[in-house]
Amino acid sequence: MTFIPVSQPLLDGNEEKYLVECIRSGWISSEGPFVKQFEERFAARMGRAHGVAVANGSVALDTAVVALGLGPGDEVILPTFTIISCAAAIVRAGAVPVVVDCDPLTWNMDIALVEARITARTRAIMVVHVFGLPVDMDPLLALAHKHGLKVIEDAAEMSGQTYRGRPCGSFGEISTFSFYPNKHITTGEGGMIVTDDPELAEKCRSLRNLCFKPEQRFVHDELGWNFRMSNLQAALGLAQLERLDEFVGLKRRMGKRYTELLADTQGIRLPLAATDYADNIYWVFAMVLDDDVRFDAREAMAHLGKLGIGTRPFFWPMHEQPVFLKMGLFAGEHCPVAERIARRGFYIPSGIALGDEQIERSAAAVREILS
Ligand SMILES: *Cc1c(COP(=O)(O)O)cnc(C)c1O
Repeated sequence: MTFIPVSQPLLDGNEEKYLVECIRSGWISSEGPFVKQFEERFAARMGRAHGVAVANGSVALDTAVVALGLGPGDEVILPTFTIISCAAAIVRAGAVPVVVDCDPLTWNMDIALVEARITARTRAIMVVHVFGLPVDMDPLLALAHKHGLKVIEDAAEMSGQTYRGRPCGSFGEISTFSFYPNKHITTGEGGMIVTDDPELAEKCRSLRNLCFKPEQRFVHDELGWNFRMSNLQAALGLAQLERLDEFVGLKRRMGKRYTELLADTQGIRLPLAATDYADNIYWVFAMVLDDDVRFDAREAMAHLGKLGIGTRPFFWPMHEQPVFLKMGLFAGEHCPVAERIARRGFYIPSGIALGDEQIERSAAAVREILS
């Protein structure tokens, strides 16, 4: 029995050719020509004027938060059901994260709960599209506009997804992406910031590159980081971007197949295939155990592991993170939906390279543990 990993990328396009070009030309650092090309093409694909390639999706968020000038005294609203990178970026900048619970069906931030969390100190909303369906952006943007709030869009899981026909990553002041190998396109490690605002883009470029003064290198008015992406990574990114539509098609096919195979399995809630604003792109094929199932996600994943099926748990809510509780954040916070799905949700093999037989074996294993 071979083990089916939870995610495997497809690297059989122009990846090798472009990497060989890097090596033959000697351009391997961030100064190489693929970085600019990848930035321009990626930003254009997302309907944005500017792209700034960075080392990963987490530092893209750090950069975005600082570039927007968020800091001490500011509150930023975000979903509690997300990766720690989102809250960490806010906390590291000295601002205060304020969490919102999620919707039980899409697992995205519950828009209806956002307005009640806005105070005189709220400066921004960090929107995170989770697992395959976008957040309902129109009401969210209307709310941000009404209260004069900036919007940071974390589109790490949404390369190639649209909201009412507009690309995810085209909303708000600034949007970020990740190119970790489980994302829709990968550079091994990598990320991108996109925006329409030329000043914001320049600020991100500077922060990414240690805030060197353009007119006087090695002199700094502000502190930045080395968050640069290398030409090797951008070479991979460019080759992957050429196949984004194909990859999204593969993911949708995977989602459809899993849904067919698991539709009448008792005891699990499957991802919604669509909402009225988007069709699921299944960043991962996730599921939540019903309350009457006698075991939780941890146990389900252990069973599946024994059957050779790779799994991952859901995000653990930000308001239950020991690191933040130790800092005195989120005291007394309660988000019942996120708390429940964190304990009862997990996902099964969902990578771009997943084959039909692997899908069938994974689905059969899920049926087996629930029978
Ligand atoms: C993957 C991911 C990130 C972080 O990206 P890395 O490249 O792994 O640092 C941020 N936000 C979301 C929603 C993600 O899924």
